[in-house]
Amino acid sequence: MGQSWSTQPAVSKHKVRQSLRKFIWQFRVILVGDSAVGKTSIALRLTEGMFRDHLQKTIGVDYYIHVLETTPTVRVKLQLWDTAGEKAHRTMTQSHLQTILGGLLVFDLTNRQSLDFITNWLDETSAALDQCQGIFILVGHKSDLSAERQISQEEAECIAADMGLRYIETSAKDDTNIQEVFLILASSIADLVKAEVTKVKGGITAINCSVFLKQ
Ligand code: GDP
Ligand code: MG
Repeated sequence: MGQSWSTQPAVSKHKVRQSLRKFIWQFRVILVGDSAVGKTSIALRLTEGMFRDHLQKTIGVDYYIHVLETTPTVRVKLQLWDTAGEKAHRTMTQSHLQTILGGLLVFDLTNRQSLDFITNWLDETSAALDQCQGIFILVGHKSDLSAERQISQEEAECIAADMGLRYIETSAKDDTNIQEVFLILASSIADLVKAEVTKVKGGITAINCSVFLKQ
C-alpha cells in the first residue's frame, strides 16, 4: 500500500501566524510598602498560588517571575521585585527605581499607620518617580479581615485620588484581586510602552529610565 499523506499540516498556518504575531515584553515592577503589610504574600499568591500564615521577613529584595497575556497577542513577563519595608533597605529601593516600569504601593487595611509609609515613600522618591514615568497602583491589602478594617474603601479611594493613583483592594489569603491587579498593572505599562514605541520608530529597546525587551 502506498504512503498516505494528510492534507492537514501538523501545525496550522493560523497557529504559526498567531505565534509570530505574539510579542513578549519584559517589565520590571516593584512591590513597595511597610513591613508586614503582605507584599511577599502577594508575590507568592501570584506566582505560586499559595498563602502562608507565617513568612520569613524579606531581606533586601526578592525576585519573582510571572508571565501573563494582556491581549491575545501581547505576552508580558513580569519581573517582580519584592522589597523589604525597613528603612535600612530604602536606599536600595531608590536605586532600583531607575530600572522599573511601575509597581504596587501596598498598605494594610487593618493598620492605618501603614499608609504613612506610602506617603513618605512617595515624598522621598518623587524626583526619581518623575523621571521614571512608571505606572503605580495603590493597593489596600488584607481585605479578608473586614472586622479589623481601619480604613474604609471610600476613604482609601479619596486618598488614592489625591495621590493621582488608581486604587484596588486585595487579599492574598482568599485570593481576591491578585491576578487582576497585576493584569491592570501590566496592561497599563504595555499601553505606555506601545505609545512610546509608536513615537520612536526604528526599534528602540529602552524607554526613559526603564528597561523592557521585545522578542
Ligand atoms: P511583607 O513584610 O509586606 O512581605 O508581609 P508578609 O507577606 O510577610 O505578610 C505579613 C503577615 O501578614 C503574614 O503573617 C501573612 O500571613 C499576613 N498576610 C499577608 N497577606 C494577607 C492577607 O491577604 N490576609 C491576611 N489575613 N493576612 C495576610
Ligand atoms: Mg516580605
